[in-house]
Order: sequence, then C-alpha cells, then structure tokens
Amino acid sequence: MAMRMSSLFLRTLRENPADAEVPSHQLLVRAGYIRRVSPGIYTWLPLGLKVLRKVETIVREEMDAIGAQELLFPALLPREPYEATGRWTEYGDNVFRLKDRKDGDYLLGPTHEEMFTLAVKDMFTSYKDLPLSLYQIQTKYRDEARPRAGILRGREFVMKDSYSFDLDEPGLEKSYLLHREAYVRIFDRLGFHYVIVQAMAGAMGGSMSEEFLATAANGEDTYVHCRSCGYAANVEAVAVPVPGPIPYADAPPAHDEETPESPTIAALVERLNELYPGASPHGGSWVATDTLKTYIVMLVHPDGRREPLAMGIPGDREVDEKRLAAQVEPAQVEAFEEKDFAAYPALVKGYMGPTVLGTESVTGIRFLVDPRVVEGSRWVAGGNAPGIHAVDLVAGRDFTPDGTIEAAEVRPGDPCPSCGQPLEAARGIEMGHIFQLGRKYAEALDLRVLDENGKLRTVLMGSYGVGISRAVACVAEGNHDDVGLIWPRALAPADVHIVATGKDDAVFVAGETLTRDLEASGVTVLFDDRVGVSPGVKFTDSELIGIPTIVVIGRGLAGGTIEIKDRRSGERREVPIADAVAQIRAEVGIEL
Ligand code: ATP
Ligand code: MG
Repeated sequence: MAMRMSSLFLRTLRENPADAEVPSHQLLVRAGYIRRVSPGIYTWLPLGLKVLRKVETIVREEMDAIGAQELLFPALLPREPYEATGRWTEYGDNVFRLKDRKDGDYLLGPTHEEMFTLAVKDMFTSYKDLPLSLYQIQTKYRDEARPRAGILRGREFVMKDSYSFDLDEPGLEKSYLLHREAYVRIFDRLGFHYVIVQAMAGAMGGSMSEEFLATAANGEDTYVHCRSCGYAANVEAVAVPVPGPIPYADAPPAHDEETPESPTIAALVERLNELYPGASPHGGSWVATDTLKTYIVMLVHPDGRREPLAMGIPGDREVDEKRLAAQVEPAQVEAFEEKDFAAYPALVKGYMGPTVLGTESVTGIRFLVDPRVVEGSRWVAGGNAPGIHAVDLVAGRDFTPDGTIEAAEVRPGDPCPSCGQPLEAARGIEMGHIFQLGRKYAEALDLRVLDENGKLRTVLMGSYGVGISRAVACVAEGNHDDVGLIWPRALAPADVHIVATGKDDAVFVAGETLTRDLEASGVTVLFDDRVGVSPGVKFTDSELIGIPTIVVIGRGLAGGTIEIKDRRSGERREVPIADAVAQIRAEVGIEL
C-alpha cells in the first residue's frame, strides 16, 4: 500500500529539537521518523519503522544465509541466570532491575548470553547437535550513563545478537569467520564506510574480538591504524610495544632533589636541566619522557568494595579514561578524593611517587605501570614530600610495581604494535562486535555435551552483535545535506516520493494513477497528495524526508511530461508521462 501524505501519521518540523546536537538526530526527529518519549527512549513513527524493518531484513537475510536460526527471547528476565554468571552485580547501574508482585527480582535484558547458553543446555546434549548458531532481533535495555544522539545511544534499542556453539577451537574459529563474513556483507549492503578493528577481549576471557566501526568524525570510539601493515585497533585494545629490559648495574643511585615551584611536568623538566644539564638517562637534555607521573584513582568493584589504584605513566602522556575503564572493568573508576588522601598520610598530593606504592609498600596500594616502564628504566618521579622529586629512580631496583596497565593515551605517530611504523588515529561509531567468548558462559552455566568418546566437554561459544536501531542513526549521519536526509536506496522508507503540485485536479488524478501503476509493478511510493499545500512546503518536506527519487507532477503535465529528480545530485529531467513507469523503475533499479 502506498503511503499518502494526506493521511500519513507525520508532522514534519522546521526547527531542530532543543536536545538534538548531531545532524542524524535533528533530521530524524524533524522529518518525522522518530519521536522522543524520555531521554534515550524513542517511538518509531511509520516512516522510521519502515527504515528499521529494512535494516532488520538485511541483517536477517545474511544471518539466515550462514545457517543461523532465528528465535526470540523475552526481554523480561529472571535474576538467577545473571546471578550465576556474576553479571547481576557486574552490570552495576547499567541494568534496569525490577520486582514482581511476589518480590522476585527481574531485569530487562541488556544482552542475552545467559539465556542462549541455558536454552542450548536445556535442549541439546551431544556433539552431533553442534555446530549451532542462534540469533534474535530484539529490544535491549541498558540504563546508559550518557544516552546520546537520539537512537544512536539509546536506553532502549534494537540489537541483533547471535551466539555460536562449537565443540572445539577450530569449530569456534569457523563460526567466528562465518559471522565476520556475514557482517562484511551486512555493512556493505547498509552502505556504510566502515573499518574492522581489533577490540578489547578484556575480562570476558575471549581470545579474539573485532569491532565494525562506521567511520564518523563525531564518533565515540577512537581507533588507530597503520598504513604500512594494515593493523587497525580500537585504542582500548592497543597493546603498547614493550622495550626489552635495560641493564642498570652502572646506573647512579637514586637521590632526592628539591624542585620547588615545579608543579607541572614542563616546569620540572626545566628545573632538571638547570640542576643536571646533560645528565638524563639517555645522556642529553631532560625531557618529559624522563619523568614518571603518578595517578591515583578509586576503583569501585561491583560488590561495592572500594580499592585505590595507583599508576605510573610516562610524563609526556595523559591517562586515557576509556582505556583505563576498559582495563579495570567491571570495576568503575572514581576520583581519589581529599578524604581518601587523608586515609593515607604517606601520599603527598602533587608529589606522590613510586617508592610508597605497591602492595608490598607502606601504603599497600596496588601500583601498576605503563608497559614502557621496564626493568632498569630510569625515572624522575614524585619524592613523597612537598617540593621534592626523586631522580634516577630505577624500576626493579628502587621500586617494584605490581604489574603493568594499558591506560596511557595512544597518540598518532606512536609506533604500530605490529610493524613499528607510525600509527594514524581516527574516530568511528561501533556498529557491530564479534567476539570469541570461549568457555566463560558455558562454564558458569555448565553447558556441556558428550563428545565422540562419550566424555562431557564444555562448549565453546562466540557472541556477535549488530546495533540495528543504531544503524538507522548511523546511516542518517552519513547520508544527509543541509536540508534533509538522503537515504541509500536499500533503506529508504519508499522507492519514490511523488509530489503533485498546483490546483489543477488533473495533477492529482495523474499522481493517483502513477502511484497505482508503480505500486503494481513493485515500486513503493510515498505520494504527496495534499490539496491546498504550497509547492514550496511540499518540496521542502520531500527534501527533508530524503527518499532518493522525487517525481514532480505539476506544470509540465499539460504538455504531457513529469519531472524525475535525484535527491542526492539534485539532477532533474523531464520525461513523457507515458514513459514514467518504465523510467522510474529503471531509476530505482527495478528492471522490466
Ligand atoms: P558501546 O561500546 O557503544 O557502549 P557495547 O560494546 O556496549 O557498545 P555490545 O554489547 O557489543 O555494545 O552490543 C552490540 C552492539 O549493539 C554494538 O556494537 C552497538 O552497535 C549496539 N549498541 C550497544 N549499546 C547500544 C545503545 N545504547 N544504543 C544503541 N545501540 C547500542
Ligand atoms: Mg562492544
């Protein structure tokens, strides 16, 4: 059935909504695709729902093509399975929890590893049942700290999640590759510019994990890539190349120096160059990379336990909050406050240094260092007294870290972890995530099957997600101009937008006929059949709505012609009305 503007449930807006900052959000609201109910919670209006369903269809076709089977779990889930895997607590404030009338605990599913694992455990028992891939397209709930950009980061959103089940590693790798290939086809069909980058395997204990990032200057994810070898990774997942240990038998002993008025690294470096010109560990002038900054934060673990964590970071770098967050997950990072300092008198604010840090030290505070702080490396760091810095502190001799942490910022120009050439940085939006989970969930929920020899074996799992509703925002973000959206054909809410202009009855009659003929030949139509609405308003709406082909029936009709306009290029051409169906079909890519 064609959609008609005279009756369509739609009101376009001329002004941007006050809360909308990015173009996709502004335009999707203004053009009547979505409407806000509450922060991060949106209604899909008829036009928007059509686009959403088209994304779903593409994803569904490609999942079916790799033999994955669709099912649908509830969104309202009991606590117990999530308790068994620890995620009831690990999710912290990000999950919506609720109670039923009997005071039982429930949650609204943020992701469904537990449910899939239990379903397979419930029904399958043998290696003969594997491999198996299951998926659903379902509404997820996450109480995001910062819902953003409309449906881009919602608190209710639609995700395709699939899970693979295999008996052994080669099986898991194969399932992973099948999904990877399906994702390439999905994102190609959606018309994204995207990159595939290495992602954090993190606390989930998986071995291999990649993200599909739509390239976007205002994306929330930063990734680095290397032109020379093709390495690409989310900055969260970058492992800094570790230099070898440095012999330190001849290193001078550590000594404390007065460094008054050296609150910044730059001032400290200047002071060192006055005090010891040319005596840096590398024999030249002192530079920021000779200094070690001490950062301290408070970790809040899912069970509420608070643990200070200190870090030693080369002085020329800042801590990257997202890298740090990814490293300490599921713990949350909070600031180390005055009252926390008060509890540790050995910590001198502004002059903290490694010698009072570490689980074996006076404070007992866990101390992790940047991987560049290798054994034998020599540093200038806080001297744990006001105005004092310790010089020639040697790692492994004068202080003993508890381990390393990848928390320092990654910068363009840093050496590629794979080939050493300089890295470049760019931003993107995470559209999909594929992940070799391994045995984590199968172990926690005891999913085992009998192998060929009748022995029980824990199943290996993969998990794979696509942000379906996010994809709508992301495509809109990449396909618009100043006046409106410009949908790629595959996702447009209709193939053509017919605009009848003028007062003459004949244009409306011709519009009706053309609409009917096109629909009958497989072309979907949005027909602007509004009477008494000015051509200017109609054109403005058609550009805002963004259907890629616009057909104008107006003044030319008297001479037997209509106009076909390309929304993207603005090109227009006159066509005889008799040829209209054939020409429009060719235009939208439906062959006769
Ligand atoms: P992000 O890092 O953006 O928060 P995530 O790593 O938590 O995402 P996953 O758990 O991997 O996300 O979910 C799979 C996919 O679901 C993501 O790749 C993304 O496309 C989509 N997605 C995740 N969170 C949201 C959200 N709040 N709104 C819309 N889509 C989302
Ligand atoms: Mg992810």
